[in-house]
Amino acid sequence: MTRVVSTSAANLAKKLYEAGIRHQGVLQAISQTPRELFLDNALAHKAYENTALPIGQGQTISQPYIVARMTELLLQTQPKKVLEVGTGSGYQAAILAQLVPELYTIERIKGLQIQARQRLKRLDLHNVTFKYADGWLGWPNRSPFDAIMVTAAAETVPEALLAQLTEGGVLVLPVGEETQQLLRITRQGDRFRSEVIEMVKFVPLIQGALA
Ligand code: SAH
Repeated sequence: MTRVVSTSAANLAKKLYEAGIRHQGVLQAISQTPRELFLDNALAHKAYENTALPIGQGQTISQPYIVARMTELLLQTQPKKVLEVGTGSGYQAAILAQLVPELYTIERIKGLQIQARQRLKRLDLHNVTFKYADGWLGWPNRSPFDAIMVTAAAETVPEALLAQLTEGGVLVLPVGEETQQLLRITRQGDRFRSEVIEMVKFVPLIQGALA
């Protein structure tokens, strides 16, 4: 059983290599992570397809290519302390947790957060701290972060997240409504350099009240 799973995950990593992902650590983490653990049983057979899938509550687990691409972008500056906004299924967090020493992750839907926490524990990933809160505000009392990844689309770049970056720190996030751009923003003193990476499609980052 385990072998079948790892073969599928290894095949997924191979597909991502063919799609242009080159970071060895990212490809290895994908090939070692059972994505079906992050899905309902009814969808488990689709776990190793390169597509986004529903995870309940109107939310989605991101397409593996985009998980890999965002992780690759975030790792370029070798961050030690990383914040993820939008825990969702916990899959992106599981990939990141294998590649950075210290991960913080925020989710605004309690049920998703509880499930994600259980899944990471099952995978023996213990370097992740979870929070049930509005991620627009970041995590002020754990800041600053060397890198922040937002896995839901913000209408505009949240100021609080910029303020919580270390010098040289990077923020990777999708910005927009119907059409969204994946941006990488780098802090240089009081200035922020922004690069457009590619067009993407994410569920919205919701501001304010918790679900
Ligand atoms: N990284 C996730 C992707 C989940 S989809 C994964 O690997 O599965 C985006 C998630 O962002 C959803 O779970 C949604 O509830 C959450 N979200 C949306 N707005 C948020 C906010 N303001 N704060 C925290 N989480 C938010």
